[in-house]
Amino acid sequence: MKKEFIFIGPPGSGKGTQTKILSKEYNLPHIDTGSLLREAVASGSEEGKLANSFMEKGQLVPIELVSKIIKNRLLKDDCKNGFILDGYPRSLEQAYALDEILSEIDKDNNVKPQVFYFEVAQEKLVERLVNRRSCSQCGAIYNLKTMQLKDETKCEKCGGTLTRRDDDTEEVATKRFATYFEQTEPLIKLYADRGLLTKLDASLDIDTIYKNLTGAIK
Ligand code: AMP
Repeated sequence: MKKEFIFIGPPGSGKGTQTKILSKEYNLPHIDTGSLLREAVASGSEEGKLANSFMEKGQLVPIELVSKIIKNRLLKDDCKNGFILDGYPRSLEQAYALDEILSEIDKDNNVKPQVFYFEVAQEKLVERLVNRRSCSQCGAIYNLKTMQLKDETKCEKCGGTLTRRDDDTEEVATKRFATYFEQTEPLIKLYADRGLLTKLDASLDIDTIYKNLTGAIK
């Protein structure tokens, strides 16, 4: 049966780490709007430039652009058996847009997505973001505070260079939280009211969160 998963949680709550593992184990595409937008920025396209003007301020990129990116991605063949959405939708407006996209893409689709909410106290998160590094080659994510790396510039899995995202500074991270609480949190009630929400304690260690996550899959 088709599996549709949506992940909601504040920046730095560990959605990326968990969804990458889930994607491999369930053989489902991991669709992360933040990464898709960063690719557009790196390509230097007009769309990328527009997106960057919002991303560098910690604000949401306009819905028209994000909906177009998501719709094109969900139409690809590899989404036939389902998908994992990480970082989308991020506002009520986007959630309603997703309802429309899904009913358009798959007319007989009566699959209901399962929505996971990563719950974690905000105080821990700014520190996590500022210390987050990711591998420019394989995408592995590290935390310099909690993981003792021999070399803080090199990926221990593939030897690639570790980089810090431009928006993982304290200033932009603080704005990203404000955006999250204002625009994304209302989704929790929407999906809870629809009976689709599963809450996960995201303050636990990676293996325990993953166990709880897969144990809750319906
Ligand atoms: P993330 O990698 O998920 O932390 O996203 C990085 C940035 O990309 C966010 O701060 C937003 O500016 C932008 N972004 C990512 N996903 C969305 C989305 N669904 N809607 C609008 N903007 C987004």
